[in-house]
Amino acid sequence: MPARIVIAGAGPAGITVAENLRAHDRECRITLLSAEPYPPYAPPAMADHFLHERDAALYWKGRDICERLALDYRSSCHIRSLDTAAHQLHLADATTLAYDQLVIATGAGLYAPVPGNDLPGVYNFKSLSAAEQLVAGVRSGSIRSAVVVGAGFIGVEIALLLQDLGVQVTVVEMKDRLIPRLLEPETAEIVLSRVRQRGVEVRLDTQAEAFLGERQVAGLSLDTGERLRADAYVAATGVKPNIDWLLYSGVETGWGVVVDDYMRTNIEGVYAAGDVAETRDRLSGERYVHAIFPNAVEQARIVAGALLGRAERYAGAESMNSLKHLGVEVIAGGTLRGSEVLCRRERDGLRKLYLDDGRIVGYSLAGNIHAAGVYRSLMLRRTDVRPFRQQLLDNRPGAAWFQTAMPTQERPHPQ
Ligand SMILES: Cc1cc2nc3c(=O)[nH]c(=O)nc-3n(C[C@H](O)[C@H](O)[C@H](O)COP(=O)(O)OP(=O)(O)OC[C@H]3O[C@@H](n4cnc5c(N)ncnc54)[C@H](O)[C@@H]3O)c2cc1C
Repeated sequence: MPARIVIAGAGPAGITVAENLRAHDRECRITLLSAEPYPPYAPPAMADHFLHERDAALYWKGRDICERLALDYRSSCHIRSLDTAAHQLHLADATTLAYDQLVIATGAGLYAPVPGNDLPGVYNFKSLSAAEQLVAGVRSGSIRSAVVVGAGFIGVEIALLLQDLGVQVTVVEMKDRLIPRLLEPETAEIVLSRVRQRGVEVRLDTQAEAFLGERQVAGLSLDTGERLRADAYVAATGVKPNIDWLLYSGVETGWGVVVDDYMRTNIEGVYAAGDVAETRDRLSGERYVHAIFPNAVEQARIVAGALLGRAERYAGAESMNSLKHLGVEVIAGGTLRGSEVLCRRERDGLRKLYLDDGRIVGYSLAGNIHAAGVYRSLMLRRTDVRPFRQQLLDNRPGAAWFQTAMPTQERPHPQ
């Protein structure tokens, strides 16, 4: 009897597990579950999808991926709970689903610590269903102004998208700069000036206290004593792994699902990957949820290998993010703290490298991001960059130090 593998969640992690499994096993029965009504999609492509009505990047594996992989794909299927003793999932339609092996890939949802966040009229952009509701309001003309609460990477992306769709946007951020967790102050300043040039109003050092209203949101109160009013309010205050359905299952959770270096949970035959999983940081060894696309896909590959009996150790997650719709390219990765900082300011940008003990531990690039891949690779391989330290910020294609620093197969192609 072929094994019954159930994958809970059809985001980048879930579909990647299925694809890798099917590439090596034509027999196993794979059931893929999604709470949403769409084919598997890539959330980072949502903004582009709404701006340019382009679907190719959104449905990154093709709309027919589930048929091509012969998956039993169940969309609009909400999992309520897990019974690990009985090897069963309990679904919202009151049915159960049995598995031999289970992959937890339910991603992360909105983390909204602001009171009133559940009032109708408070939107988010954490899933395609949620984003569709917001954009439908904009397209129908009922949303002409919006307040975005939180200015992380996603908050800034939403603000730019809405502004491009003709909405008057105000962003409220409690810290003193945009994208405070991932950008250092000077780069954040470049981003701020671009965002303001685009017409977005930004309120820094301002805390959102509560969404106001009884049956419908009617305003946002601030710690300054003011009340903001708009047609729509968008919570972009962070993400939290979707683990509620694992309560009482015996699966160990912290902020996310705790996994070992092989992406196994504490329950035999149950694995986790993606934004729901709490993994080790590749450089610092610290455990937390690294909610970015490349981590989800790599963890999924490791899980598929384990299910196929080819256990491979996960090298660890990395921290990295980029802004796509600003008009100036911005990318940051690693940790932006180091005993030494190399910096080059240019007419349209800024590049900073953070070094510890002769090794790159982080990079922050705005404008010219040409060498991002090289810095990342040097950082992940912990290469001692002291021999070419002086040239590191010379990122012209084919610069001499690239040749010494990078193994042949990883050298960037001259453009
Ligand atoms: C607007 C936006 C922009 C982003 N931009 C970037 C970027 O530029 N770069 C980057 O690296 N990352 C970006 N990310 C993050 C990236 O999208 C995530 O890291 C990635 O989607 C994680 O994949 P996942 O499969 O773990 O989870 P998700 O994509 O969240 O998928 C989770 C799946 O689980 C399902 N699910 C959840 N709960 C249940 C349940 N109870 N029952 C059944 N199904 C359930 C959902 O329906 C979905 O199918 C962005 C995210 C957003 C929202």
